[in-house]
Amino acid sequence: MLERLNANVSPEIARILDGALSGREVTTDEAISLLRVQGADFHALTQAADLARQDDCGDDISFVVNRNMNFTNVCYVGCSFCGFSRHRDDPDAYDHSFEKLRAKTREAVARGATEVCIQGGIDPHKTHEHYRNILKAIKSEFPDIHIHAYSPEELDFAHKKSGMELHDFLRWMREGGWGTVPGTAAEILDDSIRKVISPRKLRRDRWVEIIRAVHAIGMRSTSTLMYGHIENESHVANHLALLRDIQKDTGGFTEFVPLGFIHEKNTLFNHMGARAGSSMLEDIRMVAVARLFLRPFITNIQVSWVKMGPKLAQHGLMAGANDFGGTLMEESISRESGADFGENLPPEEIRRLVREIGRVPVERNTTYTILRRFDDPEKDPESKEPERGAELSGPARFRTGHPAARGTTAVA
Ligand code: SF4
Repeated sequence: MLERLNANVSPEIARILDGALSGREVTTDEAISLLRVQGADFHALTQAADLARQDDCGDDISFVVNRNMNFTNVCYVGCSFCGFSRHRDDPDAYDHSFEKLRAKTREAVARGATEVCIQGGIDPHKTHEHYRNILKAIKSEFPDIHIHAYSPEELDFAHKKSGMELHDFLRWMREGGWGTVPGTAAEILDDSIRKVISPRKLRRDRWVEIIRAVHAIGMRSTSTLMYGHIENESHVANHLALLRDIQKDTGGFTEFVPLGFIHEKNTLFNHMGARAGSSMLEDIRMVAVARLFLRPFITNIQVSWVKMGPKLAQHGLMAGANDFGGTLMEESISRESGADFGENLPPEEIRRLVREIGRVPVERNTTYTILRRFDDPEKDPESKEPERGAELSGPARFRTGHPAARGTTAVA
């Protein structure tokens, strides 16, 4: 009977999967084929990716206790997929003080966070010093917290304001207490797509220049991709190839995080003809292809539970992913169910979801050093969550965070 299952897999897909499992690099054309599979080929793809994940990372599923913090939602870049940005005089525009950001960090540390992830809109009134002063303000009270901050878009803006040479600027920022960089603002690294979805955002080559410079000074970053809008399989495969090439040179990426496009309430879907986000098939294919294509160069593949929802995230973790991302925290602690998935997933909930699929939860730091294994559910620590009904200081609605940052260890 099992032979019958295998007999339904097309020879070409079987050949690609065999090659990937035996350590041969998947080519861009092969990735395009894999990104289109359905039926028996789809199941073979996910099984192969799961086997590869087991070889690359074992059965542990990692997560990080972190908090997302957006310091301002004032932004004038105008990306068509963004429902987050506000103009300065909009009634719900905000610009958090350093004390407010310290207070948020205080709450996060009290709940066991090892990382805060900071991103914001591009406010032309801000200076490069502001970005560094945020780091210093947080580090002055919390010298041990890891700050994962500032997308290449923000770094492009702050760097131009500084007038410094790029590497000098990055080193100067690091002296302020910077830890790692979210590889966000990547969307699709193809200017034909970027010109449509975010015409004022940094171009592909500038994104690459900044990320390579970050790695060159010895800092690490994540890597991301946003799919499910106007791109096709060829754009996705080329984007993955670019990330793989950078990683071969620098080794600076800690992980890859595919981010499904959230289509509600933005111009890209409502007025520009984008697809209504990704299907389940695309979400799982994306994770599986990333595993097979990026190995052995990028071995941590993260699911975005905010975008996929916890149940589909579980599926992704059985189809090539090995990391659950972060707790994020930036949301009221209502835990109501509904169409949205919230922005807070407590560590005990992540551990439960991991155990439900027969795997072992492990807490990691931002750069994937394992801090604790949770082999025995009976010995799990007490929850550090606030009482039900209590709220963190932060936006009370779902999906108020920066689109790039949602659903990643940092927000990607
Ligand atoms: S995605 Fe970021 S850069 Fe683009 S408009 Fe939104 S806040 Fe601004």
